[in-house]
Amino acid sequence: MARVLVGVKRVIDYAVKVRVKPDKKGVVTQGVKHSMNPFDEIAVEEAVKLKEKKLASEIIAVSVGPAQSQEVIRTALAMGADRGVHVEVSGDEYELLQPVHVSKILAKLALDEKADLVILGKQAIDDDANQTAQMTAAVLDWPQGTFCNKVEKTDAGLTISREIDGGLETIKTKIPAVLSADLRLNTPRYATLPNIMKAKKKPLKKVTAKDLGVDTTPRIEIISVEDPPVRQAGALVADVDALVAKLKEGGHI
Ligand code: AMP
Repeated sequence: MARVLVGVKRVIDYAVKVRVKPDKKGVVTQGVKHSMNPFDEIAVEEAVKLKEKKLASEIIAVSVGPAQSQEVIRTALAMGADRGVHVEVSGDEYELLQPVHVSKILAKLALDEKADLVILGKQAIDDDANQTAQMTAAVLDWPQGTFCNKVEKTDAGLTISREIDGGLETIKTKIPAVLSADLRLNTPRYATLPNIMKAKKKPLKKVTAKDLGVDTTPRIEIISVEDPPVRQAGALVADVDALVAKLKEGGHI
């Protein structure tokens, strides 16, 4: 029976139109709806499924971030996680927190909590880094199964089907291991109202990165954040000759 650590990041909700701050040093986060990173919902769901199949004994949801990160831990608890760990990092330190810092934090917690599996999302939709699972596996020196499409427990460990360019790859790995959840791994359940109420009573521990011995001093400086270029309006042409003439005029052919 495995103990599973799941990473849940609080990100700007996928449906929000993100705006760049006037000083171009980041994006507006104040007063903006945040939610659990969508791939992390899939990671939590996979852990809960393992527990339902009696293949996992306990699920610990971890979020690194400001005080509000506890909201996404509560969501994970309502989905079926047993307890939460909030690693508080806020202000400028959080704005410049990088996957390498989060990986060291998750690796330390995985060892402290004697986890057998770490399940993360394949990518956080705010930084689009796709690095944390890989680096967590490297810090722990554990095998990794990234972009998981299917995970099956076997006597020897896990058989994992991975999404790769144009197809699927099947690999076997022993546990302990680090996995990252891809979109088609499962369909996450909704947290029901009774479970949201129950989640309020589940244990949630708060620690700092310093408590875990991880230095989160920023390693980068953000020079500038820009909006994508505005798309130019299209033009209607009367016929193919006019189209060809226009393309030539624009130097496209
Ligand atoms: P990234 O490498 O930043 O694209 O993130 C990949 C995955 O790592 C996410 O889907 C989360 O599962 C986990 N992760 C990244 N940042 C955090 C965080 N601040 N707190 C908890 N989990 C995180």
